[in-house]
Amino acid sequence: MKTYDIIIIGSGPGGYVAAIKARHLGKSVAIIEKEDIGGVCLNIGCIPTKTLLRSAKVYQTIIHSEDYGITIDDKNKVKFDWKKILDRKDKIVRKLTGGVKMLLEKNGVDIYQGYGKVIDNTTVEVNKETLKTKNIILSVGASPIIPPIPGVKEALEKGILMTSKEILSIKSVPKSLAIVGGGVIGIEFATIFSSFNTEVTIIEKADNILLNVDDEIRDAYLKILKKANIKIITSATVTKVDDNKVTYKKDDKEIEVNAEKILMSVGMKANVSGLEHLNLEMTKQGIKVNNKLETSQKGIYAIGDVNGNLMLAHVASAEGIIAVENISGKESKIDYNKSPSAIYGFPEIAMVGITEQMAKDKKLDYKVSKFPLSANGKALAEGEAEGFIKLIIDKKYGEILGLHILASHATDLISEAVVTMELEGTVYELAKSIHPHPTLSEIIMEAAHGAIDKPIHIL
Ligand SMILES: Cc1cc2nc3c(=O)[nH]c(=O)nc-3n(C[C@H](O)[C@H](O)[C@H](O)COP(=O)(O)OP(=O)(O)OC[C@H]3O[C@@H](n4cnc5c(N)ncnc54)[C@H](O)[C@@H]3O)c2cc1C
Repeated sequence: MKTYDIIIIGSGPGGYVAAIKARHLGKSVAIIEKEDIGGVCLNIGCIPTKTLLRSAKVYQTIIHSEDYGITIDDKNKVKFDWKKILDRKDKIVRKLTGGVKMLLEKNGVDIYQGYGKVIDNTTVEVNKETLKTKNIILSVGASPIIPPIPGVKEALEKGILMTSKEILSIKSVPKSLAIVGGGVIGIEFATIFSSFNTEVTIIEKADNILLNVDDEIRDAYLKILKKANIKIITSATVTKVDDNKVTYKKDDKEIEVNAEKILMSVGMKANVSGLEHLNLEMTKQGIKVNNKLETSQKGIYAIGDVNGNLMLAHVASAEGIIAVENISGKESKIDYNKSPSAIYGFPEIAMVGITEQMAKDKKLDYKVSKFPLSANGKALAEGEAEGFIKLIIDKKYGEILGLHILASHATDLISEAVVTMELEGTVYELAKSIHPHPTLSEIIMEAAHGAIDKPIHIL
């Protein structure tokens, strides 16, 4: 019977990173995957969506080429080839998942393709083979929620209604798309399809979309989404789906939306079924873990979407490393306050730390500094000057409490704030750090100057 130091179930960004790190720390490791290596993120999440967004961006840039002094005689001749766009996506996915498989193999991780069944704290079964282990890392991820709304199941079976998984391989771009749910994933697909001329309607139950985003950033983003012809209906509860017809209730009225396709995007639920016999303590979101990622059962760790703490790929990877470090005897803890999150679109939103509303609720003595993209040379040169940065600092020491960016490449810019927060740096270090010119990163330095006294490049 094969014995390992660690058996990891699930090869998404949580599992595969944990496996590689564990090998670096000298542990014997097996990883079990029932589907494709790379999990949701690489196969049907982060990466495929970004490749589609890139194609959408290229298409939009060509359509608006006159803004850059490039004329096209007949715009009707500018066409996109959806099949080729999907082929490009699939090629990139294959390249990355192949790369991850190679990394696992070359690092000496044993890969088992099959369904991993945890028998007890030290025993796992896969393909009728029993494996023994000192520790188990559950990194089994999450799946899209299909709410029990009448007609949803039938529309799903007919291929009219889809989740984020199926829509990533949709055969053609629909003329109209109703998106149920105004969260990060729904909004990302709204941007993708509206860029390819789909008439998009978002139906959201809450009184606003993107509830975890800073209010001011969200308000500005809402205007951008509206300008992109994305229709957003809030405080609207979907009550029924009848083939292409979505019925929702708003202000006690029943209203219908007809759409060629429907995207159900109301959140993800942790994949915890099949683990009941382990008697793990649960939270509403998933498997309960402490800040070392250990579950209520000794030697069993739960990382990534399955613990439901912060369902993001980079958080899953960070948790994977922390779990492995703890298994290896190194005290290591997760700090979700310093975990950035992002919303991809045109422009992007990236944020870390607290929003202004949270600062108010916590009655903190804080200060806000903002700086617009329209005063940044690189943003103007790129023709992407929509958006602004919002820095929230603690008044007494200038500690960074939160940074929120609405800008193209915001998701690349946010890491500067993450590192500064990790180093317990203040706004003074941010302002003093020499930023290259012209770059978008200068908005961070400007916001820091603004927090201390005034930004340089604006009155
Ligand atoms: C459309 C979409 C876009 C997204 N975009 C982003 C983004 O831009 N940035 C970001 O940070 N996050 C994004 N996410 C979220 C991100 O994909 C997840 O947070 C991330 O994949 C979680 O990683 P994980 O390792 O916890 O699990 P997963 O990636 O879900 O992997 C879990 C793996 O476990 C396997 N598995 C489950 N049970 C078993 C079993 N019993 N035996 C064997 N194998 C098993 C599954 O087959 C799966 O491969 C997106 C998600 C979606 C759906």
